[in-house]
Amino acid sequence: MKIKKDSVAAITYTLKNDAGEVLDSSVGKDSLYYLHGHGNLVIGLEDELENKAKGDKFSVAVPAEKGYGMADENLVQSVPLSAFGTNKVEVGMQFHADGPAGQVVVTVIEIAGDQVKIDGNHPLAGVTLHFDIVVDEVREATSEELAHGHVHGPGGHHH
Ligand code: ZN
Repeated sequence: MKIKKDSVAAITYTLKNDAGEVLDSSVGKDSLYYLHGHGNLVIGLEDELENKAKGDKFSVAVPAEKGYGMADENLVQSVPLSAFGTNKVEVGMQFHADGPAGQVVVTVIEIAGDQVKIDGNHPLAGVTLHFDIVVDEVREATSEELAHGHVHGPGGHHH
């Protein structure tokens, strides 16, 4: 069967950036199971997976617009160091903050004197996503998975 809306597919994936650096990979680990057509993967990747079948292999470059979006400079801001209280603050540190659309991951990108520059963009915003994909399995979703809008693992059961 082919991947279509409401299919559950299992994929092995490797994600690289433009420089060819591996950012994430499931090679050698369990396959990633997902419910197709419910926004569980970035749209550019779901578009490519449509109509693929078990055993299919492909590579795709997903532009940021169809990946994690473009970086928004409004999400980069300076806050006083004192806002962190007694916590140690370092460049590269990530923490959760409340944003207009719910919780976001914020990254410390610069510390200058008593000002801390933070970036609320997704770490992969503005990045072209290079995926190498192998389709390991395709099956129908269970009614419970469809009701929840996500997959329940290889056999369709909650863990
Ligand atoms: Zn569930």
